[in-house]
Order: sequence, then C-alpha cells, then structure tokens
Amino acid sequence: MDYQSLLSRQIVDLPRSGIRDFFELVIGRPDVISLGVGEPDKPTPWPIREAAIRSIEKGQTSYTSNLGLEPLRNEISRYVEENYNVSYDPKSEILVTVGVSEGLDLAIRAVINPGDEIIYHEPCYVSYNPSIQMAYGVPVPVNASPAHDFAVLASDIEKAITPKTKVIMLNFPTNPTGGIQPVEELEKIAALAIKHNLIVFTDEIYSELLYDGRTHTSIASLPGMKERTVFFHGFSKAFAMTGWRLGYACAPAPLREAMMKIHQYCMLCAPIMSQVAAIEALKLGKLAYEEMRASYEQRRNKIVGRLNAMGLPTFMPGGAFYCFPDIRSTGMTSKEFAIKLLEEKSVAVVPGPPFGAIGEGFVRCCYATDTNLIDKAMDLMAAFVAEHRK
Ligand code: PLP
Repeated sequence: MDYQSLLSRQIVDLPRSGIRDFFELVIGRPDVISLGVGEPDKPTPWPIREAAIRSIEKGQTSYTSNLGLEPLRNEISRYVEENYNVSYDPKSEILVTVGVSEGLDLAIRAVINPGDEIIYHEPCYVSYNPSIQMAYGVPVPVNASPAHDFAVLASDIEKAITPKTKVIMLNFPTNPTGGIQPVEELEKIAALAIKHNLIVFTDEIYSELLYDGRTHTSIASLPGMKERTVFFHGFSKAFAMTGWRLGYACAPAPLREAMMKIHQYCMLCAPIMSQVAAIEALKLGKLAYEEMRASYEQRRNKIVGRLNAMGLPTFMPGGAFYCFPDIRSTGMTSKEFAIKLLEEKSVAVVPGPPFGAIGEGFVRCCYATDTNLIDKAMDLMAAFVAEHRK
C-alpha cells in the first residue's frame, strides 16, 4: 500500500526528532553511561508518591473537571503568586494539562491561523519548531548565541517581527544550554510585545532550578504583560515527576477558554492520580526539590569544570540541568562526535543540531545523573577528546 499518499502531507514532511533517532542507538545497551535524557536521576519524592497511592486506595480513579481538580488549581494559583509574583484566578485563568508539552500545543493551536509566525530562540527544546508546524504556523527562530551566554537579544527579536508575527515564545532557564535571560533584556522584549500587540508564551519549566543564588523573574509579572502572556509550568523537572505527565497553563480568561476547548476534545482531563500527587508537590514546594537543586548545582560545577579542563569550552549554566560544550576543536561535527563517543567509549550525549542550526559544533550533556557516573563519563570523554584532537 502507498501509505505516503494516505498520510497528511504536513506529517510526511515533518522530520523525526533527532534525539529519538540517536537514542534508538542506545536502547538495549546497559553498558552505556547516558548523559542524554533530560530527566532527574531520582524518583519522585516519597510524600508525593504516597499521596497518589492513598488516592488510588480510596478509589479516586475517575475523570476530573476538564480544567483540572479545583483544589489543584487553587494550589497552582497560590504557588504561582508566591513564586512568580503574578496572580491568576483558579476558576477562569488556570488549566491543568498533560505536561507542559500539551499546554504548549494547546496554546499554539488556540492562537495560530495558517501562516501566522511564532518567533522563538534557538537552541531550544526540540518540540517547539514541529509543534508550530503541526498547527500550520511558521516557526521563526532567532539565535541565542554563546557570545551572549545563550540569552536572546530583544534587538534580534525585533528584527524578526513582521506583520504576520503573532507570538514570541521564550524558555528560561533554557533547554539545552542552561541559559538565563537578564531582566533588562526581558523588559525590552515585553516592551516589543506591547508595541507590536503580540502574545508571549513563556515556558518556565526549569525556573526552580537556578544556581549561584540567582532569582527568577517571569515576563508575566512585568507591567502590562499578564494580559498578553501564557505562562507554562509543570512538575516534570523540579519535582522529578516526568512520568506523571502533569503541567499547567495560566492565561487571560479568553485564551484559557480557547485552550480548554481543544483540551476537552483531545484530552478530556489530566490523570486524577497525577493531579492528587501534584497538590502534595505544590504544598511541599522547596522541601520537595531543594536537596535535588543543591545537588544539581554541585554536579554542574563538577561537569563544567571537567569539560573546560579537557579543552571543550563550556558555558557555566545559570539554571536547568544541562550544559552545552563546544566540541569544534575536535574537528568533528556534533553527530560524528556523539556517535564516535558512543561507539568508542559507551558514553551518550545529544548532538546539538536537533536543538536548532546554531547547535552545530555543540553537544548537550544532562548532569541530572549520578555523580560517580558523571566522573566516569568525564574520564572517558577526556580520553576520547585527547585521542581525536587535531
Ligand atoms: N519544555 C521544555 C523546555 C522542556 O525541556 C521539556 C522537557 O524536556 C518540556 C517542556 C516538556 O515537559 P513536560 O514533561 O511537562 O511535558
């Protein structure tokens, strides 16, 4: 059968995720030390798991409101106000989603008409570009270059604005670089959004994971921005809850309503057990994640120190749990480097290009990995680099 002619042209033309392809090579190889997958190495903190177990024991196995459990939306409202300095009405401005992934997809589909443009910064999370394309939007990447510590310049965003621009999409701290955005630059982006009447999507999924005593400012909290911003957050990273598939979006009521319409038809609601667990996570707050955050900070110091010492210039990330070493001195492309490192030393890192063209010459290492394994991986990588350096 000619399946190509039966499939949607949009999907046939969409490239597969570069990360997935790479990880097919790792599957079934227990000898490999993986710095590849972007998730915490520890399970969800016990009190959060226990809350879900108790709810299952009580027989809480039903659908919930499309919007999410009311006590969870109340907790989200409190948590966001306390930590991000912006207040959302749990009844009309908050939607519980199946991860930030679903929230982003809903928001893109809720605002994009075919041909509308979304500006975002690269390197970035691999799903941004395809999610925009799947909604018949036009992805407009702007470089967040190593020369600016992987922050994005408002002046570069301004150059990319056209009459078709609808959204500016931001993610700080950033996957895959750990870059953060200086507040002054965030203020300039806010001014651009107001001047050109644009919506801002802000994915703040790593915002609890900040280092060196940094504090986080959400663009949603800047004057005049709440009314034009969709704020995305979730439980996967700080609370080590990737498998629970839970996130939330906070938005002005009309936008939340449009997103809810799509959510109710395609997802109905997020799983009730995960929602119950999330209430506990938000009640615990820092108590649940501070130990993990502090330990990521130590691992960050170790891995960045080792990478720089082996001659791979590496930016010291301000947040998240990734670093993005520059491997150009080896003379290899990112893909060659990652494949050879896997073949010769059984260490897995992710090539940079799936995160955007500017990622060529870099690889992503996730340091939410056991400290001893980081040590071993760095010994192997240092030997590899010495053997291949031109
Ligand atoms: N946004 C960013 C920037 C990410 O790095 C990830 C996962 O790696 C996600 C969203 C997806 O998050 P979730 O597990 O909540 O769907």
